[in-house]
Amino acid sequence: MLRAAITRNITHFSRILVYRFSTAAIPAPNHQPDVNYNKIFINNEWHDAVTNKTFPTINPATGEVICHVAEGDKADVDKAVKAAKDAFRLGSPWRRMDASHRGMLLHRLADCIERDSAYLAELETLDNGKPYAVSYTVDLPMVVKVLRYYAGWADKWEGKTIPIDGDYFCYTRHEPIGVCGQIIPWNFPLLMQAWKLGPALATGNTVVMKVAEQTPLTALYVASLIKEVGFPPGVVNIIPGMGPSAGAAIASHMDVDKIAFTGSTEVGHLIQQASGGSNLKKVTLELGGKSPNIVLSDANMEQAVEQSHSAIFFNMGQCCCAGSRTYVQESIYDEFVERSVEKAKKRVVGDPFNLKTEHGPQVDNEQFQKILGYISSGKQEGAKLMCGGGVAADRGYFIQPTIFGDVQDGMKIAREEIFGPVMQIMKFKSMEEVIERANDTMYGLAAAVFTTDINKAQYVSNSLRAGTVWINCYNVFGVQAPFGGFKASGTGRELGQYGLENYTEVKTVMIKIPQKNS
Ligand code: NAD
Ligand code: MG
Repeated sequence: MLRAAITRNITHFSRILVYRFSTAAIPAPNHQPDVNYNKIFINNEWHDAVTNKTFPTINPATGEVICHVAEGDKADVDKAVKAAKDAFRLGSPWRRMDASHRGMLLHRLADCIERDSAYLAELETLDNGKPYAVSYTVDLPMVVKVLRYYAGWADKWEGKTIPIDGDYFCYTRHEPIGVCGQIIPWNFPLLMQAWKLGPALATGNTVVMKVAEQTPLTALYVASLIKEVGFPPGVVNIIPGMGPSAGAAIASHMDVDKIAFTGSTEVGHLIQQASGGSNLKKVTLELGGKSPNIVLSDANMEQAVEQSHSAIFFNMGQCCCAGSRTYVQESIYDEFVERSVEKAKKRVVGDPFNLKTEHGPQVDNEQFQKILGYISSGKQEGAKLMCGGGVAADRGYFIQPTIFGDVQDGMKIAREEIFGPVMQIMKFKSMEEVIERANDTMYGLAAAVFTTDINKAQYVSNSLRAGTVWINCYNVFGVQAPFGGFKASGTGRELGQYGLENYTEVKTVMIKIPQKNS
C-alpha cells in the first residue's frame, strides 16, 4: 500500500514547472505556492540579498546546478533580526495571540506540509540526494509529527505555584526568550527545520533561521507555507547563505536572544565563542558523534547485523548519531563481519528517485572527497578493507558502502566523525573492556548495545556516557523523547517536553498577600 502511495504521488515528476527562476529541474506541487527559490524570506516577503549575490545549489546525484539562490549576508541578517524583533514587541499580533491560536497555526502548517508532502519529498531528494522513498516515508511523516506534537504543547507548557515562606503568593511563568537564531545542517533539511521551529513557535518566540547552503530549497518552500497559514510577518525569517558570513552574523548579533545550532563540533565551538563575545545569548548545540554500537556474544545475530547495518549506512552515513564504531565480541566476530559484508554488498546504490534505491549520493563534492580521504587513511593505517572503498558511479557523489575490519581504537577512522557510509568493526573480549573503550571519546551523542541478557543490557547502557542509548535497536526516534549529547556532542536537548525548556525563560512572580489585620 505504501509503495502504491509513493508511485501515485511520484507522477508529479511529469509535471515540471518553472517557478520564477530559469531552471526547469524543480517538480511541481499540487497548487501554486508563493515561493521564490532565489530570494530570502523576511517579514513574510521575498527579498533579494542586499549584496545581490547568489550561490548555486547542486543536485548531488548528477553534480548539476538546480538553481541559484540569494546569498544572505550580515546586512540581510540585520534586516531579518529587526523584523523578528518587531514581531516580538509587546502588543504585537504575535505577542497578543492566544497560545491555543499559536498551536492552531502550527497544526495548519503541519496540514499544509502533509498536503504537499510528495512535492516536498521530491524537492528534498533533488537537493540533498536522499532516496525519495526515504524522504517520503521517513522524513516527511516525522516533520508533520514534530509540528503536531509541539502544536499540542502551545497552551500546555505551564508554570507552577510555589509555597514560599511568608505572606506571598509565588508562581512561575514560562515566557518566550525572544528572537531565536537557528542554524541548521543539510543532512535532514526539513526535519531539522521542524525540530527547531516546533518548540520555538509553540512557546511564542520569533525566529531567524539560516539554512544550509547545500540544501536551501525545501526550507524556502516551507517559508511560503508559513505565510499561507497566517503566521504574522516577522515571526519566521529564513535566510539561505554561508556559515562564516550569515551564520556568524546571527551567532554574534546583539539582538538575537538565543541560538540553536546543529552541525559540526568545530562550528559548535565558534557559536559558543560568538555568544561569549557578544551578548551571552543562550546557546543550544547538537553536534557530532562517534557513537559506539556494542554487540555482545549472546546477541540475536540477525537483529544485530541488520540494525548495525542501518546504524551506519542510513542516510549514506550522514547522521550525527551514526553507529560508526561497531564493537563485536570476539567469539562472534568472524560471523558478524561476514554477514555484515554480505549485507553491505547487497545495498542498492543508485538514482535516488528510483523506488528500489536504498542509498543515494553524499551531499556534495566536499563531503565526497573528505570521505574518500578517510577511506585511504583507513587503508594506510592498516585496517582491513572488507568491501566497498570506492566511488559507485561515474557522475554525482556516490560512494560504495564500505566496511573496515580489524580496526584499532587509535586509528583516525575510529576516532573522527567520517559522516559517510564507512563502517568500522572492532573486536573486544570483555564487557568491562568495551565499556571503557566505548567511552574513550570526546563525543557522547548516542550508543547501542545488542544482547539478549537484560542485566547486561542495563549494565552497559547505564555505563555509557551518551545522550541516547538504544538496546537491540538503532536510529529509533520519537518526537516525544529528548535527543542531544553528553560531552562535546552538544548542550541541551531537542524534542519532547525537554525541548521546550531551551525556548523559555522562567519568570518568578511574588505577590504580597494582604492579611486581615495588617
Ligand atoms: P557545518 O557545521 O559547517 O555546517 C552546519 C551549519 O552551520 C550550516 O548551516 C553552515 O552554513 C553553518 N556554519 C558553518 N560555519 C559557520 C560559522 N562559522 N558560523 C555559523 N554558522 C556556520 O558542517 P559541514 O561543513 O556542512 O559538514 C562538516 C562536518 O560536520 C560533517 O562532515 C559532519 O561531520 C558534521 N555535521 C554534523 C551534522 C549533525 O547533524 N550533527 C550535520 C552536518 C554536518
Ligand atoms: Mg543541493
